[in-house]
Amino acid sequence: MKIKLWGVRGSIPCPGPDTVEFGGNTACIELRFDDRLIIIDAGSGIRALGDSIVRNDLKKGPINTEIFITHTHWDHIMGFPFFTPIYIPGTQLKIYGPVTYEDEGLDRIIGNQLTYRYFPVKHSELSATITYYPQKENTMDLGDGITLTTKYLNHPILCLGYKFHHKGKVFCTLYDTEPFRNVFPTDPEDPNYDALAAKEGERSAREENEKILEFIEGVDILVYDAQYTHKEYEASKLGWGHSSMEFAINACHKARVKKVLLFHHDPLRTDQQLIELESSFQQRLAGKSPLQLQFAREGAEFEL
Ligand SMILES: [Zn+2]
Ligand SMILES: [Zn+2]
Repeated sequence: MKIKLWGVRGSIPCPGPDTVEFGGNTACIELRFDDRLIIIDAGSGIRALGDSIVRNDLKKGPINTEIFITHTHWDHIMGFPFFTPIYIPGTQLKIYGPVTYEDEGLDRIIGNQLTYRYFPVKHSELSATITYYPQKENTMDLGDGITLTTKYLNHPILCLGYKFHHKGKVFCTLYDTEPFRNVFPTDPEDPNYDALAAKEGERSAREENEKILEFIEGVDILVYDAQYTHKEYEASKLGWGHSSMEFAINACHKARVKKVLLFHHDPLRTDQQLIELESSFQQRLAGKSPLQLQFAREGAEFEL
């Protein structure tokens, strides 16, 4: 399995002199399993991936690929209209993703970016054959020896973690997500306090966090949401749907993950800050945990 990161930012593309090293594009990951190409997310990083596919793959025959969308927030789908293969006759594209609102399917949510109001080309004018599939929490045999297991995460809309097994190796994504927590008041002085609800809330948050640990247990490479530092998260980002770096690292250590790529960098985070954070976390882990840690860089490639 080969992995290449084409976009590692969260929220909005942020090109500029402060984001040269880690890149400014939003989420997009390329996976290659021998001849099979699978893409995770269609953030702004998918534009350059599409151009690379046209340059390198088209000469071998029509493009046939699948895109697994983690969720439909804009930073994860905004690159779709700029994915060149959709304009090439013969392209076969299957798009999978979770959908919260039953009255609007994935085809509308993603495809409506291609309406004259926003873009000069309509979805119905595209040359590719595109089919959309709602994705739930399940395990699927994708053929070619690839198994995919998905897991609902904790985000303001339905969002999935994707885990690919191939030839004994496991690659997994876990973004956008934050730790599950008890949403009921736990202070008996609080007028809304309900002892039963407080206890139930604690139990259910603990169980959901344990399920996440089970999902990532022993993964070879894990791409984990780490948009905030613990300090930022505690100060003002609770409930925004993203994890802190410290929480992500701790979860990976507990679940015996082999390598974590911290991902979905905040658009405000500069190269210099990421380099300093990366080195300080690496030093903290040295000698205490076998976990390998890197901050995800646009263009980075890995092989399993
Ligand atoms: Zn996002
Ligand atoms: Zn999101």
